[in-house]
Formats: sequence, structure tokens, C-alpha cells
Amino acid sequence: MTATTEGYASRPGGAQAELLAEVNKHETERNLDLVWAEFRNYQQGIMPAGPGAHELTEFFAHIDGKLTTSETGPPKTQRSDREVLNLLTRRAQTLHLGTANYCWFSDPSRALCLKLAGTPNADRPLAGMCDSARCPQATHHPCHRPVWAEHAAQTKTFLGSLGPTRKTERARLQADFNRALGVLDAIDTAINQTKE
Ligand code: SF4
Repeated sequence: MTATTEGYASRPGGAQAELLAEVNKHETERNLDLVWAEFRNYQQGIMPAGPGAHELTEFFAHIDGKLTTSETGPPKTQRSDREVLNLLTRRAQTLHLGTANYCWFSDPSRALCLKLAGTPNADRPLAGMCDSARCPQATHHPCHRPVWAEHAAQTKTFLGSLGPTRKTERARLQADFNRALGVLDAIDTAINQTKE
């Protein structure tokens, strides 16, 4: 990365813009790979979980329908493949990677983090305020399971170490623990579903 950065820095004018464009290109490609991987999971019955799961599953069903048509239909195949790629690319452009979730930031007005922060018109999600168990744009996938499992284990340890007088703290941690268990349960259930 140093060599790349130096290359851009030595160019006169617009260096930062070019670097940013390059970074964005890599991000889009990485996101496209991730969307494609999750679509493959969907095809194998490994569904997304979380509040945004239904929407994402519907999108995958739409893509699946188009691919099935292109496989069985007449030679409008190439146009159909391009359409699928365009749809996947557009979806990939909304994807932001949270530590414990995927964030499909397609509509700022639905972003829970922005509502909580009081900045409903911002053009990026606020990862620091993310509450993926409640945000309609969030999904959880098997790759997020370890983070939630660790969070649940740590919270359980904290709960066990609290003295009997710490009632408020106990209630907060218990809610946090229940939420983590709920997310884990939803991920596990979604792993063995069938396509819509
Ligand atoms: S709350 Fe989380 S999932 Fe929802 S928009 Fe914000 S960062 Fe994305």
C-alpha cells in the first residue's frame, strides 16, 4: 500500500481523489464478492438473519429467478446476466461492514443509528451507534456468529461477577445477554432454512 500511496502522492493535483477512487473501487469489488457469497449461501439454504433478512432474501429470490430464467430461456441470456450483475453491484454499493453485522445502507431515513444520533440525513451509517438487532437495514450471517458468541460469553461472566445490590447494572447486562442469545439463535435457525 505504501508504494501505491507514494505513486499517487507524486502525481501533481488530484492525487487524493484518485486514491479515493481506487479505494472505492476495491471496496465495491470486495462488497460484490461478499454479496455474491451470501447469494450462494442463500441458494444452499443458508439464509441471512436479523431485521433486514426478509428484504435481503427477497432480493436474492429475485436474482435467483432471473438466473433460472436465463439458464432455461432463449439467448437473451447475456442481457439477463448483465442485469443480474447490475443489480448485485447496486446492492454491493449499499453494503457497509459492521463488526457484528452487515449494514445495507440504502435509505438513511431507516437507519437506526442516524435516528439515535439525531442526524437522519447523513449519507453514511454511524457504526459506533449501530444497534443491528433492531435496525431494519441490518443482517446477521454465520460469519458474525463468533463475535456474538464471544459477546454473550463475556456478558455472562460480567453478570456472574455482579454483587446483589447492582440491580440496574444487572438488568442492563441481562437485556444485553438476552439480545446476544436471540441473535445467535436467529443465525442458527436461518442456517437450515429453505429458499422462499
Ligand atoms: S444501525 Fe447499524 S445496520 Fe442500521 S444503518 Fe446504522 S450502522 Fe447500519
